[in-house]
Amino acid sequence: MSAVVKTTSPPKKFEFVGGDVCLDFTNTVGGKRGATTREYLNYYTDFVSWCQQADLLNESTADALLRSAARQPDESAAALRRAIGLREAIYRIFAALASDESPHVSDLDHLNDELSTHLGRLQVASTKKGFSWTWANADDGLDQPLGPIARSAADLLTSPHLLEQVRLCEGDTCGWLFVDSTKNHSRRWCVMSDCGNVAKVRRFRLKNRRARSVRSATSRKASVVSPK
Ligand SMILES: [Zn+2]
Repeated sequence: MSAVVKTTSPPKKFEFVGGDVCLDFTNTVGGKRGATTREYLNYYTDFVSWCQQADLLNESTADALLRSAARQPDESAAALRRAIGLREAIYRIFAALASDESPHVSDLDHLNDELSTHLGRLQVASTKKGFSWTWANADDGLDQPLGPIARSAADLLTSPHLLEQVRLCEGDTCGWLFVDSTKNHSRRWCVMSDCGNVAKVRRFRLKNRRARSVRSATSRKASVVSPK
């Protein structure tokens, strides 16, 4: 089996805390961009596994893609590179907006290129309740999950009420993105039990350190004035 279709066993369980498909996709990198990062999409199979966990692919389409990838190692490596290229463009766009900056035109161009490649597969299908958008299968197109990911980014960019709630996690070693859907818009961390707790422990230690230094300063002062 080729390196790009190698499987990690058991498959990684991805976290979905971004509140939006495209942000969850950007969160397939651990750590902080520009500092220390951990890549979670090391093989094409990781990408397919993430897409399945994100409900972008059903099992039979995922299996078909994996079979196709095994037959075409170079193409699956290229599809993974494209997925990561789109992911990073999406990350830079939303990280800029979360920091009240304008995204680079080149990143928007990148997103638009992927949209123009994939949007032709969007179709209207009848459902029990009416109609819905669906994606036509691109036979064994290894890049097909990029369509719904790019569309998710376009939808978020064109939804002002959601876009203004896109946040970067405040964790010192984290750069995950999420939509803050809390009532009072006070969410600061991607995962409270993770980055939130680290910050809480750090605050507690800092408070203790300050209290200790105030106490020792006070006792030093007391010993200086005591002879009077
Ligand atoms: Zn975080």
